[in-house]
Amino acid sequence: MSTATERREQLKTLYEQTRNCRLCALSETRTTVVFGAGNADAELMFVGEAPGKNEDEQGVPFVGQAGKLLEKLLAEIEMDRKDVFIANVIKCRPPGNRDPYPHEIDTCQQYLWRQIGLIEPTMICTLGNFSTKLLRGDPTGISKLHGQVEQRVIGPRAVRLYPLYHPAAALYTPSTLEMLRADFQRIPELLALGAPEQPREPELVAEPEPDRAPERDRAPERDRAPEPDRAPESERVPAQPPADSGGSQLGLF
Ligand code: SF4
Repeated sequence: MSTATERREQLKTLYEQTRNCRLCALSETRTTVVFGAGNADAELMFVGEAPGKNEDEQGVPFVGQAGKLLEKLLAEIEMDRKDVFIANVIKCRPPGNRDPYPHEIDTCQQYLWRQIGLIEPTMICTLGNFSTKLLRGDPTGISKLHGQVEQRVIGPRAVRLYPLYHPAAALYTPSTLEMLRADFQRIPELLALGAPEQPREPELVAEPEPDRAPERDRAPERDRAPEPDRAPESERVPAQPPADSGGSQLGLF
């Protein structure tokens, strides 16, 4: 198993590979690749959908209103951004905050799988439909799955997968916020269980195909809702990370 320092160095290398990625057309419209941010040695990883306007400008995931809510919910369980690692399924902003296309998810998901493989979290909270469907390899929507923890083998390791509503879906819907908050409150007890039992023989599990079904349950605005610019209050985040400035995101993890 790698040390925290080794993981961070490996993540840096992966970031360097990702930040100039031109594998899909989103590279033509993005300002910056939003790789992810947080603790490279985190037990808990959050996986959202795609960068929005503010994230695209700042190079940091979840910096808008949805990000503020995520931070608030973390604070309520006595955690903050530096305790976790936050990433998205898609690393570049889809124009106009549209849904990612299936071929974009197909192309980009390799980076997420590699992030998970390097960080080796014991628990992954998927936020919303896109990440839940991708990591479960199943089209079941978040409204049926939220708050139901399950053990899944992702890459060579077993993790607890805990689907949650996307914070953006809870911004303007009090009942969704109530469910999200209740699900969040269980995170500490689930983390306290430690790593799930690992497969006896490490087995590489094929990356599931992204779901192509209509997104009936998707978050209305996700973390891509228009909102005032702000930098997250995290010691791991530079005050003003410049857009795509050649390694500016290396301070994020
Ligand atoms: S969305 Fe992903 S695959 Fe497409 S250009 Fe960005 S990093 Fe590359």
